[in-house]
Amino acid sequence: MPRPTCNSCLRPASRCWCDLVEQIDSGLPVWIIQHNDERGHAKNTGLLVSRCLSKASLMTEAQMGELKSRLGPNPVLLYPQLGDQSTPAVGSDASTISDLIIIDASWRKARKMVLSTPWLQELRRLSLDQPSTAPNQVRSSTVEGARSTYVAAIEALHQLQQLQVPLEQALRPYRHWQQRIINDQRPPS
Ligand SMILES: [Zn+2]
Repeated sequence: MPRPTCNSCLRPASRCWCDLVEQIDSGLPVWIIQHNDERGHAKNTGLLVSRCLSKASLMTEAQMGELKSRLGPNPVLLYPQLGDQSTPAVGSDASTISDLIIIDASWRKARKMVLSTPWLQELRRLSLDQPSTAPNQVRSSTVEGARSTYVAAIEALHQLQQLQVPLEQALRPYRHWQQRIINDQRPPS
């Protein structure tokens, strides 16, 4: 018999994290494009942050075309400026931003998605300019200081002064979620 699964967080019922969801006001619409490999992944936080943020939407790769038509006049992509782009990075004019787009994928796969999607490549980019306040303790990355999608979204909104609650309050669901993963990984004593 298949194990019962929670329809909301897509995890086995015994690992359901839905009780950790808290409503967090975001000033901006946040679009999270989820790589297909991330759906239902035990350590994915794209779904968690999309359920916590008041104006967030989780999109599949297949919905990217639809997303393009729903964006406001001045969207930005949370992605580093790698010297591969002519459009200016987001600077002091952050107040004019209409939408924040985040890719929910590993660095390698995110890069691939950007490189294969011309309209994403042309967007202005936002880079996080501070070291993370909530390092990722449950998922290794080849990139130093890599953030989970949850933390990246919250820290980006904070940097843009679009987070309507204190940073630490907005990070609380993530810290609880991470602690639960760590506890679940401990062998029973
Ligand atoms: Zn659940």
